[in-house]
Amino acid sequence: MYAGRTSELGPVAQVLNRPRAPYTAGLLASLPQDGVRRRRRLPALPGTPPTPGAPPPGCAFAPRCPLAVDVCRTEEPEPRTVDGRLVACHRAEQVPADTATLFGEGRPA
Ligand code: SF4
Repeated sequence: MYAGRTSELGPVAQVLNRPRAPYTAGLLASLPQDGVRRRRRLPALPGTPPTPGAPPPGCAFAPRCPLAVDVCRTEEPEPRTVDGRLVACHRAEQVPADTATLFGEGRPA
């Protein structure tokens, strides 16, 4: 869930192994990859969450999403079935399999 709306809903293993919502991918990319070390910052999603009760128009995640395009800023994505789960994202099919590339190095421009 992001800003009170479901981003992705499906079988746990499917969602964790191959997220189709950029927010899910971002959460997974924020996990420590090589164990937790002291004095090392965990990767974080860029930007800040929307003000509760006053999300931006379109997709609430658009200001933080590296895959956002014009439609994302004007039309709120409705949940739809993608790859066996419900995903509320206009570009679910473009979420890369390697979640680290979406929010880390090599992320799309
Ligand atoms: S609808 Fe657009 S802005 Fe929202 S998560 Fe999907 S790609 Fe990103």
